[in-house]
Order: sequence, then structure tokens, then C-alpha cells
Amino acid sequence: MPAFEHSVKKRLSDLKKQHLFRELESSELSGLWVERAGKKLLSFSGNDYLGLSQDKRVVKAAKNSLKKYGAGAGASRLITGNHPLYATLEKSIARIKKTESACVFGSGYLANLGLISTLAESNDLILADKAVHACMIDGIRLSGASFQRFKHNDVSHLEQLLQTYRKQHKNCFILTETVFSMDGDLAPMKQIQALAKKYNATTISDDAHGMGIIENEVRADIQMGTFSKSAGSYGGYIAASKTIIDFIKTSARTLMFSTALPPAVVAASVASLAIMRKEKNRGEKALSNAKYFTKLLDLPVAQSAIVPLIIGAEKDALLYSKRLMEKGFLVTAIRPPTVPKGTARLRFTFTSQHKKKHIDALARALQGIKK
Ligand SMILES: *Cc1c(COP(=O)(O)O)cnc(C)c1O
Repeated sequence: MPAFEHSVKKRLSDLKKQHLFRELESSELSGLWVERAGKKLLSFSGNDYLGLSQDKRVVKAAKNSLKKYGAGAGASRLITGNHPLYATLEKSIARIKKTESACVFGSGYLANLGLISTLAESNDLILADKAVHACMIDGIRLSGASFQRFKHNDVSHLEQLLQTYRKQHKNCFILTETVFSMDGDLAPMKQIQALAKKYNATTISDDAHGMGIIENEVRADIQMGTFSKSAGSYGGYIAASKTIIDFIKTSARTLMFSTALPPAVVAASVASLAIMRKEKNRGEKALSNAKYFTKLLDLPVAQSAIVPLIIGAEKDALLYSKRLMEKGFLVTAIRPPTVPKGTARLRFTFTSQHKKKHIDALARALQGIKK
């Protein structure tokens, strides 16, 4: 074996020793159920919060578009990939987010990467909540801006950092998530927005886990999100003023140098958003299901469709997940680097499609393991 492969093999075995090795499990989906190794499991792990990935109207929109326009877009949006469906989708997302304009990207990851690295320059300052998603961090790294993290949801720490660092920089950006992906809690947007005003900073929020479930009363200056979760489709977006979006469209490298989404995927997102706007009860149901679960288990009341149960050690979290799987439930263990060290956890997600009896059975199974 070549020397380099040897060193990779060593890194692999180190990960295994630390219970940090990950494997791609083949998972066949049908709604709430996931088939793994021939076994049907009831999933509390997906992000299809409104059940729209399986919705007949959404699937039909994609199918019709597939037949009409084919499988792929063939080029980036700035070349020939900008199908008219994009304009419809961007209008719709701007309306939902109450902004002048919007831009659709190939994925949420690409949206954050492109947005942050395009807007922030090396003489700027970025202050990000400690728990923001990896793609925000990667966007920050690419930007070359100065970067500090503030303690999770801690506005007084944020203000301290603003006092210390704001003056030496040209522009300042504050980054947070509306609903935190691994904690399920909400950002104090009102206080963050007030600080941004006081210190002349621009706020950017990642709404990947909020859309269609949590209505934001106070919005960030720039709102980012994805169609890959509650919209049940694929793709990312940025919603902001026309000036910002015009600049992003002409400069973001992840938009310029990556092929446009297949028209069928864009058509599915258009159909999803139309349903989301009309059927508000879907989001309400996902949230009330999460609340029902936290009540059953005497956990702090769910604030979103995501409920974490912190276990601590990686190997214990894996064991819990395995035991639940033996009982017919799919609840993934989340480990570092997705979450901080020592906070490995089970992450339960609830959708509008879960029934009370599903949640009762899950709670019983979990209590059975605890004893
Ligand atoms: C999933 C996720 C993303 C990335 O979105 P994709 O469309 O899956 O690439 C970005 N931010 C957060 C908080 C996420 O959970």
C-alpha cells in the first residue's frame, strides 16, 4: 500500500476508535417509513417536516416538468440553465420572506457559501453564533474576513464582541439560525436586530429549519434557507433587497460556476411553496407533535419541530440509537463535529405526518431503554 494510503488508513482507524466513524446507510424512503437492511423503521430523523417530499401535487409538478423539459439543466444559470420556472420560484420565496428580491442556488450549502464569501471582504468582521451550520463557517473561511464566535444565543457576549472589534472593521455581519438545527431552539432575533442597528451591522439568518413551521416576527436583513427540508424538494435560496440580490447574482461563485438545478426540481419547489402558503396547519401539526413528545417525556417544551436529547458520550448516543432501531424506530445519533464534544445526542424530528400513536410508541420505547 502506498505511504499516503497508509496514513489515511490510520486516520480511519482513529475515527473508529473515537466512535466518530460514519457510514452511508442505504435508506429507501416512503413517507415516514425508511427501509434499512430489509427492515422497516418509523423515522424521527428526516427534515421533511411538512411531508411535502411525498405529496402527490408536488410529485406531479416535478413529473410534468421532467417530461416537458428533460432531466438536467445543461448549464449554469448565467449561461443557459435559467429556466423560466426560476423566476416563479424567486418571486414566491421573496413574497414568503417579505423581501424585494430572492436568488435560488443549487443547494442551501452553496447559497451560504456563495453569499458570505461574496459579501464579506478581508477588512470586514463576522460575528457568528457558536452553533451555526458548517456551510456558514465555510463561507466565512472563504471570505477571508475577521471572525469571532459568540456563545450560543448569548446577546450580551455578542455585544461584548461588537464593543471590542466593531470599530476596526469596515462592514460587520452577524450570523445566526432562526431555528438551530441540532438544538431546536430559536435565535433571539429581536435583540440581535437591535444590536445590529446600534453597531451598524448587517444580520444574516439561516432559516433551514424554520420555513413553514415558525413564523419570524423579526427578520434578519438577509434571509437564507433551503428547499431541501420543509419544502421536500432540493435547492437553496437567499432573500434580501434588490441591490444585494443583484450583486449576488452577478458575483457569487457558487452560482456562476455550478450547473443550474434540473427544471423538475425547481417545479417541485414552486408547487411546495404554494401548498405551504395555503396549508398552514401542516407546520402547526409538526410543532404540536414535537410539543406532545416533550410533554410525554417531561422535557423542556419543544420550540420547533426538532427535539434534542443530550446523551454526552458518542458511544452511548450510538447505543441508544441502536436500541431504538431494534424497536423499529430510526433516530440518528448526532456526534462531533456536528455538535460540540461531550454533547452527542439523539435528535428527534417531528413532521405533520406523524400520528399520536407513533409518538406514544416512541416515548414508550425510549423509556424502556432508560430503565
Ligand atoms: C441543511 C442545512 C443547510 C444546507 O442546506 P442544503 O440545501 O441541504 O444544502 C444549511 N443550513 C442549515 C442550518 C441546515 O440545516
